[in-house]
Amino acid sequence: MAEETQGTPESSPQTTDRKPNNNNRNNNRKPNNNNRKPNNNQNRNSNNSDGKPSGNKPNNNNKNKNRNRHRRQPTPVDENLKTFVQKNQEAHKQRLNPHYKLDLNSTAKIRITPLGGLGEIGGNITVFETEKEAILVDIGMSFPDEDMHGVDILVPDFSYLREIKDKIVAVIITHAHEDHIGAMPYLYKEMQFPIYATPLPLAMIGNKFDEHHIKEHRKYFNPIVKREIYEIGNDFKIEWMHMTHSILDSSSLAITTDAGTVIHTGDFKIDHSPVDGYTADLHRLAYYGDKGVLCLLSDSTNSYNTLPTPSELSVAPALDRVFAKAEGRVILSTFSSNIHRVQQAIQYGVKYGRKVCVIGRSMERNIEIAMQYDYVRFNKNIFIDADEVGRYSDKEVLIVTTGSQGEANSALFRMSIGEHRHVKIKPTDLIVLSSRAIPGNEGSISGMLNHLQRAGAKVHRSKDIHVSGHASMEEQKLMLRLVNPKFFLPVHGEYNHVMQHKETGMICGVPERNILLMTDGEQIEVAPKYMRKVKTVKTGKTYIDNQNNHQIDDDIILDRQKLASDGIVMMVIQVDGQHSKMQAKPKVTTFGIVADKQDKAFAKEMEDVIEHFLLHLKDGMLENTRALENDLRQIVRKHIYRKMKKYPLIVPHVLVS
Ligand SMILES: [Zn+2]
Repeated sequence: MAEETQGTPESSPQTTDRKPNNNNRNNNRKPNNNNRKPNNNQNRNSNNSDGKPSGNKPNNNNKNKNRNRHRRQPTPVDENLKTFVQKNQEAHKQRLNPHYKLDLNSTAKIRITPLGGLGEIGGNITVFETEKEAILVDIGMSFPDEDMHGVDILVPDFSYLREIKDKIVAVIITHAHEDHIGAMPYLYKEMQFPIYATPLPLAMIGNKFDEHHIKEHRKYFNPIVKREIYEIGNDFKIEWMHMTHSILDSSSLAITTDAGTVIHTGDFKIDHSPVDGYTADLHRLAYYGDKGVLCLLSDSTNSYNTLPTPSELSVAPALDRVFAKAEGRVILSTFSSNIHRVQQAIQYGVKYGRKVCVIGRSMERNIEIAMQYDYVRFNKNIFIDADEVGRYSDKEVLIVTTGSQGEANSALFRMSIGEHRHVKIKPTDLIVLSSRAIPGNEGSISGMLNHLQRAGAKVHRSKDIHVSGHASMEEQKLMLRLVNPKFFLPVHGEYNHVMQHKETGMICGVPERNILLMTDGEQIEVAPKYMRKVKTVKTGKTYIDNQNNHQIDDDIILDRQKLASDGIVMMVIQVDGQHSKMQAKPKVTTFGIVADKQDKAFAKEMEDVIEHFLLHLKDGMLENTRALENDLRQIVRKHIYRKMKKYPLIVPHVLVS
């Protein structure tokens, strides 16, 4: 066999055998090599038909006879090894496509409806439904735009939940960030279901319930243990898997129904050296991935970041440097929920002999909870109260506080404008902002920095003192490869984040037809054989005023927007019903339309408009004051628009006598 095939490579194994030889020749024959590749088959064919070598092969032989002969020595093929190559190829196929393990004959399906969190950052709430039951994953809030005057937070519209209320068997929480639990009190004031979560999210929800005077709803708490599988309702089996994120005690979920397992990552990053040593439970993700996962919903927030998200521990050296150099007080501000950041700041403060003063309601509360429930341990005597700060020398003080987003009611902001009761900014103070600006907050942060620097303080906010809590592209790839889903729903992020995550999904082997980009309210049906959009349900936002925790109706916000952008005109007109004439000059009051000094001229102008209007009144109009006021409003509106290109609120009062 060896001799026969020597000059006539015809079967495919020999073709593959030849490849390495080709490569060996590269040095002296590169150009020919390239030319030859496509010709290989032709050469072989002509060899077969003529029974003798043709093409450029003889040339080869002539040029380098000995070496060539040596080169042509075929390596004997071990047929047994060949079968194992095939077996391994098959093993790879099975490993990479475990979806054959899904029951394709099953008629079971699951419906997934995001009611918030898509096309936006925040307000996360997702409904998972079988035929008879539903669970809600996370009930989050979001922050208003600047033109939503007097609105503190936004809560998702619960209309769809009212519709399916009787199907809902539980609320499932992934982690304790506001955009995942912030709307809980608002939902629970209206309807209640058992709540399943790990202890920290439950403790924080409990606090919210207390604040909203619905303490009694704590009875719905069902604390869970990670890695155990909970049967919830008749249709759901759920496991919480530990995840690393910018808040303690975060989880991904494995939600199993008759249709298969859906993995919901929640918010995550993959931190291999988290501060508490509790790494992401990659093993459980891999376990489900190996069993065959129907669908993956994964966090898209940082889908553009090509560099891996650094470990939380990576801020430690920068913190150390800050404290080593600081001459006076250090005032450090970060997200109050990022307990690991606070913990590291406190550790380095203590290392350099400082006492710790925690200022800001949410910061105090979160540290308290973290200590109460043994998530972090500090010696209690390192803490001092705000009114004790003055008793220590500046070098002995670390103030940890809220306000890293420049929020007007935060402790740091009040310090910056000299309105904090206990802490006045000094020129020797070092302000450390250990956070990033949430998009939309840049203006208020900049404003606060101006105040702080005007007060003489130094501000430190370099990049190395903050890391993100969300997975970047490479970690998203790891998640996709571990879970190996048949279908993929990139979630949590604006449209462009989700879109980029889709690309990453395709790179990681999910076919494009198996990926859907959802928007809020779109209901997706997933079954072992297919995934499709089935309908759209009502979504939206409810405006909340934090001062009283009450809802603000939409029309109030619209009025406020109008007032803010276009102002208001009020007119009181007394009309003689007999003669359709004004009995006195109208009283005209405006805000936000003309300058005070032009008030009189404007009132005169209105008087003319009203006079003209009364002159052309239809008969009987004076009897219907409401219609009269409406008509007058239209006339004034047109007039003002023509002159000022503004649509103010117009409030006419016509008194007919
Ligand atoms: Zn989060």
